[in-house]
This record gives sequence, C-alpha cells and structure tokens, in this order.
Amino acid sequence: MNARPKKSFGQHFLHDGRYIDRIVSAIRPRAEDFVVEIGPGEGALTLPLLAAARRLTAIELDTDLIPGLQARAASAGELHIVHADVLKVDFTAMAHSHGVSRLRIAGNLPYYISSPILFHCVEHAAAIQDMHFMLQKEVVDRMAAEPGSKTYGRLSVMLQLACRVEPLFEVPPEAFRPPPKVDSAVVRLLPLAPEELHDARPEHVYSVVKAAFGQRRKTLSNALAQLLDADAIRRADVDPRARAETLAPADFVRLAKVYGDR
Ligand code: SAM
Repeated sequence: MNARPKKSFGQHFLHDGRYIDRIVSAIRPRAEDFVVEIGPGEGALTLPLLAAARRLTAIELDTDLIPGLQARAASAGELHIVHADVLKVDFTAMAHSHGVSRLRIAGNLPYYISSPILFHCVEHAAAIQDMHFMLQKEVVDRMAAEPGSKTYGRLSVMLQLACRVEPLFEVPPEAFRPPPKVDSAVVRLLPLAPEELHDARPEHVYSVVKAAFGQRRKTLSNALAQLLDADAIRRADVDPRARAETLAPADFVRLAKVYGDR
C-alpha cells in the first residue's frame, strides 16, 4: 500500500471514502454483473466493487501494483487482473469469451489518455451495458455539452451519437493522492439501444465531424470544403453558412450520409 504514485501512468489514487462510497453507490454492482475496472491502482474502488459483485476483472498497466492488489483482494472475492494497456483490450471479445451479453465498465481513469479510452469504449459500445468514469471535470463538461455552448465539440458529438451522457457529481483534487491540478467529475455513459443508433458509416461521421470542428469558427461550407460543397450540405438539410458548434449530432449524421453517397 502507499507506493509512490507514478506520474507517467496518470496515477492519482482516491483516498476519500465519501467519494468512493458515492461512486460505488452510483454503479450499484450486483452479483450477476460482469464488472470490468480500468486502472484499479491500489484498489480504492476495486475492493468495494468486488465486495458487491463478488467477481471483477481489472485492467492495469503498471506491473508494480499487481501483487499488492492481488493480496488485498484475496479475501474479498474473485479478482482477475489483466496486465495490459486498456487501449489494446478487446471488450467485445472479452464479453463473448465469458459468455456474458454486456459488460459493466468503471474506473478512475488515467487522465493522460482519457479521450482515447472513451473512443475505444465507444467502439465496443454494443458489448457494454454501462460505464462509470472519473475524468477531468472539463472533459465531462465537453462530453455532455449541448449545441451552441462553448464546450460543444467533437467529443460531445461522437459520444452523444453512441451513448446517453449523464454527469453525476464533482470530486475535488484533495480526494486524491497526489491531488491532480484539475477538478474531477464522475460521469455515467449508457450505450444507446440498437434502434436508437444512427445508420451512417462510422468513418464518414468521423471525417465530417473532424473537419467541421477542425475549423470551428468557419462556416460549414468553408470547413467542409474538402469533403462537401454547399449544395451537398444543403442536401443534408443543413445551412452551409452555419458553424459546426450550432449543429445537433443528428445533423452530422445526415452530412455523413451525403458524404458517403457522393
Ligand atoms: N482506481 C485507482 C484509484 O481510484 O485510486 C487508481 C486510479 S489512477 C487515476 C489510474 C490508474 O490507471 C493507475 O492505476 C494507472 O497505473 C492505470 N493506468 C494508466 N495507464 C493505463 C493503461 N493504458 N491501461 C490500463 N491502466 C492504466
């Protein structure tokens, strides 16, 4: 316990029991759930999650933390530790290989790769029941932002096209050892049901959203000039004079379909 936290692994260990309790209550793990924790660290969330779910799979990149975690969990339940970079873990294959339809994923995420982890999880959303993550508050604000707000951008659109985003509560720096330089927040992500998902090609949505927000101050006809001309933008029922930040996620889907049909 109390190893020196490693900056390079984004290690900020939760030590305030009140926030640990709030996170575990928000997750409400049950014995029949297949819970996966990203970055268990020293086990602040792992042990209470394990106590409720009885079994848990934890993905940890830092080898040095694994023996301590294993020892602390020995009497708490069935802990399976995967020593890996979470970005290389195939959640869909994990669900299949354990014969479960959907995983419940949780974690106090390493902030240096929070966006890549979110995008990775979204790719496997069909195999995920829900996600509860601790992130920088600023990232949670961007994830949940609505069109027209300053923080609305690529992350908001890409996540909202795949999940319902529910910010839950904020967590101050003092709740961690060492305290991070930023405020944190816990967010719940609920993958949309198959019938709620859009039917555009993901790579087309990605290209259109990336280009549109790449130059967010420009009008869409300028920002999307390499992909779609003004007539094509109009065919998607979008005003070419509008800016990306005013468009709803569904508008990007229509633009992506026109782009796919070109
Ligand atoms: N869950 C613990 C807690 O709340 O005290 C630790 C949270 S700490 C913010 C992030 C954890 O993610 C660390 O244990 C770190 O070693 C681990 N980590 C960092 N990069 C990772 C990666 N690419 N894949 C898996 N785990 C990673």
